Amino acid sequence: MRRPDGLLNHNVLGEDKGPQDACGVFGVWAPGEEVAKLTFYGLYALQHRGTESAGIATSDGERILVYKDMGLVSQVFTEGDLATLKGNLAIGHCRYSTTGSSTWVNAQPTLRPTKYGTLALAHNGNLTNTGDLAELVQKLEASYTRGATTDTEIMTALIALQDSKNVEASALTVLPQLEGAFSLVFMDEHTLYAARDRHGVRPLVLGKLETGWVVASESAGLDIVGAAFVREIEPGEFISIDANGVRSQRWAEAQPKGCLFEYVYLARPDTTIAGSGIHRTRVAIGAQLAKEQPAEADLVIPVPESGTPAAIGYAKESGIPFGMGLVKNSYVGRTFIQPSQTIRQLGIRLKLNPLREIIEGKRIVVVDDSIVRGNTQRAIVRMLREAGAREIHVRISSPPVKWPCYYGIDFASRAELIANGLDVEEIRRSIGADSLGYVSLEGLISSTKVPSERLCSACFTGEYPIRIPEDLSEGKMRLEITEAHGH
Ligand code: SF4
Repeated sequence: MRRPDGLLNHNVLGEDKGPQDACGVFGVWAPGEEVAKLTFYGLYALQHRGTESAGIATSDGERILVYKDMGLVSQVFTEGDLATLKGNLAIGHCRYSTTGSSTWVNAQPTLRPTKYGTLALAHNGNLTNTGDLAELVQKLEASYTRGATTDTEIMTALIALQDSKNVEASALTVLPQLEGAFSLVFMDEHTLYAARDRHGVRPLVLGKLETGWVVASESAGLDIVGAAFVREIEPGEFISIDANGVRSQRWAEAQPKGCLFEYVYLARPDTTIAGSGIHRTRVAIGAQLAKEQPAEADLVIPVPESGTPAAIGYAKESGIPFGMGLVKNSYVGRTFIQPSQTIRQLGIRLKLNPLREIIEGKRIVVVDDSIVRGNTQRAIVRMLREAGAREIHVRISSPPVKWPCYYGIDFASRAELIANGLDVEEIRRSIGADSLGYVSLEGLISSTKVPSERLCSACFTGEYPIRIPEDLSEGKMRLEITEAHGH
């Protein structure tokens, strides 16, 4: 495997990232199919959920092989690599680190021998009781030092060290001990497993191939491999898939608290969550935004691509024409090439470029999905002014993000969130817009058509549905994240 030196990759946009998702997971049980290739394409569709590293584990019934590396899915695997990963079942993962450093060793799937075979595991989410779990691991394995830096490794160790008759029994012992958000796919030599936390914070769906089964973070991951959507894996559900078919067990009563931010930004527009198509939901949020935050303007433009459906909804509802005033360089993602200082200063222009002939002399409504630190919107406003916009009205398809997420999304620390210290008028002044308007929380939730009591909206309200231990609130966890990103 290449690059075991822990080399970091770089965000070419510099320090001001949008919210980063924790990970994408994929699993397939399909004897006779090229499971590694199916997993590669599944991860390819889930790339937006994690761009720092990617990995695939396969089993041929006798042994499990894992291949993982830093980089985009398409950078990590070659045709030759995939050809060596033969088997009947596979799991895959693409990662954005929310805990643990961004190094090769923390790429997933994780791998651990057990007394009954080998366990490979991939995780989307974030556990909130990692300290307690590490203590449990230490009791089971005297030689265990708390060197493991990810909640995923601790969870893998805990399952692998159980004195049970098989992985299924071990998982059913360990799952109730985990707190926080987790959508898991894991496997031994013969069986594919999947589990979701009792709140179902992160999505996870089940699909059917002609000759097997697929599990994926989003339904878009099923579509790309031709799997038919069967259903969402329920909060608190555990499933096993092997030659006997799919077996479902409930390890906890469901207490749904799906992530509201998946609807705003995280999930792909062509994904369906809780029966709602994400694109349609985002168009509805944009229409709601237009009702709540109207503007006198000549043109509605999106910040592509995450702001596009909401801008379509805003334009339709307001009757203001829609146009593409910002062109996105779609191929700027993550790169191993450290940008030079000159390039870094270009900042947002590496990603977005204004179309002067569309913008010049016009009053523009620019629609974006969220404001985290405010640096991106400040740069966009400046860029649009330079391109000749007469007025700039910024409209945001989520309420102000005021609180950090402890369930797998890396926004920023509380102190870094611009809406934590400033009110809307102060933020408007800070980003230099002529007006600024956010959709209300009620307006956002009603657009999702999911009852508010079934959603997590903690980053907007500060009401965390899963207990946050004191050592995670601000201090310790932020430290890990800060170290991970080398800020
Ligand atoms: S805090 Fe926000 S981003 Fe995190 S799970 Fe809740 S709604 Fe989603």
